[in-house]
Amino acid sequence: MANTKDYAIATLGSHSALQIMKGAKDEGMHAICICQKGKSQPYESYGVADEIIEVDDFNEGFFAIEDQLIAKNAIIVPHGSFVSYIGPQRMKDVRVMHYGDKGILEWESNRTKEREWLLSAGLKMPKIFKSGEEIDKPVIVKFHGAKGGFGYFIAKSPEEFYEKMKQHPEEKDYAIQEYIVGVPIYTHYFYSNLTGEMEVMSFDKRYESNADSIGRIAAKDQIDAGIETSYTITGNIPVVIRESLLPQIFEMGENVVKEAKKLVPKGLYGPFCLEAILDPKLNFYVFEISARIVAGTNPFTNGSPYTWLRYDVPMSTGRRIAREIKTAIECGRLEEILG
Ligand code: AMP
Repeated sequence: MANTKDYAIATLGSHSALQIMKGAKDEGMHAICICQKGKSQPYESYGVADEIIEVDDFNEGFFAIEDQLIAKNAIIVPHGSFVSYIGPQRMKDVRVMHYGDKGILEWESNRTKEREWLLSAGLKMPKIFKSGEEIDKPVIVKFHGAKGGFGYFIAKSPEEFYEKMKQHPEEKDYAIQEYIVGVPIYTHYFYSNLTGEMEVMSFDKRYESNADSIGRIAAKDQIDAGIETSYTITGNIPVVIRESLLPQIFEMGENVVKEAKKLVPKGLYGPFCLEAILDPKLNFYVFEISARIVAGTNPFTNGSPYTWLRYDVPMSTGRRIAREIKTAIECGRLEEILG
């Protein structure tokens, strides 16, 4: 049997790295954290990494130490910041072993492809408006690559849209999406392509500035002060969902995985997240998929109410990933989970 001690799990020190490192250690694997110079303190303080490698930056710096990682038989666990720093195009240049099919990250990061994928999986999505002229109901305007939701705005008419766009003269790449009134629910899935089983790990909602505090001011004062809503992500809040919605949650995840098998050779497996607004009639409007671990799993480093039902140890998503990698190594099936 192959020895997991001959391998390591590595990721960039940001996003959900604490949880990924801790999960790797809990599963008895060597954990390597690649940190930007001057930003390694959390990883040292929490003692989650066996090894810290410092780099000048997360792009060229990563490629500069790639041979070191290869020599250690490291397996990269990609997270949101990893994909964003390396860039979906350059992901293909990554030579070190990579958990997950890289091809699916391209479907995730291209809005048109992403929509095609989710609609073919039978999911409801907010309507997309091709131009400002078409706006006939409240919309949310999102800038591509906007760092964590900063700058998004709401408009309800073409006039309001063009007026607000004046504040973003440099932005050419944006989406005008129907604004769904409801509550955000982010579902964290884990699909094992070793066993063919789908798990629902946890749920979160985001803590966004200023959207999550604007209700503390009376509507009149908001208008008087000319306050605009923004959606800058600052953290995540755990959620448990009404139990009768769970069958639908499982079905949505399974349909997305089934469709992904038609898109890229190995499909979608491991952790992923469907980001949705749940309206008062209990319709899920999915507005995005993340085809890798999301930071919304961070409240659950000690497991979630759901993983506690299934596992007899605290099972975070980070630890679930490490367990999958460990199982694959031990069963001689590592090739199946790399991409
Ligand atoms: P995103 O950057 O696409 O994840 O969106 C940032 C935030 O905007 C989300 O957390 C939601 O609270 C909100 N949001 C995004 N899309 C919609 C939508 N179509 N309708 C209502 N709220 C949305």
